[in-house]
Amino acid sequence: MSSAPDTRNATDSTDVLVVGAGVAGLACARDLLAAGVGVRVLEAGDAVGGRMRADRVEGFVVDRGFQVVNTSYPQLRRRLTLGDLRLRPFTPGVLVQGPSGRLRFSDPTRRPRTLPDLLPGRLAGHRDLAALGVLSARAMLSPPGRLKRRADTTTRTALADAGFSEAFVEGFFRPFLSGIFLEDDLETSARMFHLVWRSMLRGTLCLPTEGVGAVPRALAAALPPGTVRLESPVAGLTDDGVLTAEGREIPARSVVVATGPGSVPGLLPEVALPDYRTVTTYYHVAPRSPLGEPTLLVDTRRRFLNTCVLSDVAPEYAPPGHALVATSVLDEGEAGRESGEERAGRGDQEIRESLEGREGREGREGLAGREGQVRAAVGEAYGTGTDGWTLLAVRRVEDALPAMPPPQPLTRTARVAPGRYVCGDHRATGSVQGALASGARAAREVLSDLRG
Ligand SMILES: Cc1cc2nc3c(=O)[nH]c(=O)nc-3n(C[C@H](O)[C@H](O)[C@H](O)COP(=O)(O)OP(=O)(O)OC[C@H]3O[C@@H](n4cnc5c(N)ncnc54)[C@H](O)[C@@H]3O)c2cc1C
Repeated sequence: MSSAPDTRNATDSTDVLVVGAGVAGLACARDLLAAGVGVRVLEAGDAVGGRMRADRVEGFVVDRGFQVVNTSYPQLRRRLTLGDLRLRPFTPGVLVQGPSGRLRFSDPTRRPRTLPDLLPGRLAGHRDLAALGVLSARAMLSPPGRLKRRADTTTRTALADAGFSEAFVEGFFRPFLSGIFLEDDLETSARMFHLVWRSMLRGTLCLPTEGVGAVPRALAAALPPGTVRLESPVAGLTDDGVLTAEGREIPARSVVVATGPGSVPGLLPEVALPDYRTVTTYYHVAPRSPLGEPTLLVDTRRRFLNTCVLSDVAPEYAPPGHALVATSVLDEGEAGRESGEERAGRGDQEIRESLEGREGREGREGLAGREGQVRAAVGEAYGTGTDGWTLLAVRRVEDALPAMPPPQPLTRTARVAPGRYVCGDHRATGSVQGALASGARAAREVLSDLRG
């Protein structure tokens, strides 16, 4: 699953060095190159993609945390031919597992026959349906730029102000949005919520058949060979360029730090970072699909953020005769923290063994206990036994998404100091669209300064 850009013709000195080959850095590099500027991208990892990478585990596609591609993102549409990603769609809407069973929330304009679950007395009341109509019409019709001019508040306040009942907020918005914002108090900026709602209505959620890593790979493939240098961590910035971890200085007129939050404090201590959200995704293998449709399922009891049968969406995610189920949960607290970053293994026993000698007993039991709880909750939600299920992999991403409390500017300048720039989702919105847009903005500002 790793791409290996050709680095044979690489020479050292360049106009602009981009540090980090996540989608923000790749977008920035692409725009600078298109303007005729010399660019090199230095990436610490062994492949491009950062938080958008996938692994092959025993013939299954395992994304580094469950995530989806939204076809409405303008930056994606501008940069890629979406057809080349071989996208497989989710059904529009979600299944909501609540105390009275499972209900379907879907956009009635796309799937009229699913309307009955939205009828008053089931998922929503009359007032909620009216509010939903107004919210959705506004989201479809208002240009995103207008959002920035509105006063910002939390999503919870905005939903109450829009006329939604507490019951509908708790029964639909809270469980649904918690999987998008990676927090479950609806404390995220209402501006961000409106952008998300708009993108949901305008686009389709999809999975690329080869995993989400297909997106950054396609972005990297559009760069000239030799532009990206893998396994090249940058240790610091100098007056004339950057210092690599090997101790070599590479000169450049400008440096763009596109590293994600981990390296920003070391490279650009003056840049303020938001808090980041942590998420863990459990990948279970089942002998057959417990759902039989490509739909996201959320839980009003919030025992998990969301779950879906990946192989119902993209059969390529699992070898024939198996189903792959992804279930995401919020940060695991201390037990999860102790259990470390990422691991792939089979079954509780093997997880315990793989942790043997590395972590405390509490951490091992915490992980195994949590997995058991997740499996039980998901089995109940799907209405199926999970005896034949095995745990394939666990992906815990500590800096998954920036927290976005109000007020959110939605975009920030990339300029830090003369010749120094920063981009990434923390400078825009916590999304692929936000990261790409931030990379694009960094390129515009670098170009303007170089010419200026
Ligand atoms: C589990 C999960 C689910 C998500 N779900 C969605 C979703 O459904 N929809 C959506 O739109 N967005 C989603 N996102 C968010 C989206 O993936 C990110 O916003 C986006 O990928 C961030 O890109 P970036 O380029 O800003 O940063 P990153 O992807 O973090 O890229 C930074 C790069 O810099 C490299 N780097 C770091 N330090 C150094 C160094 N010192 N030297 C050289 N290189 C360095 C890293 O290796 C990495 O490749 C999700 C994210 C996660 C983790």
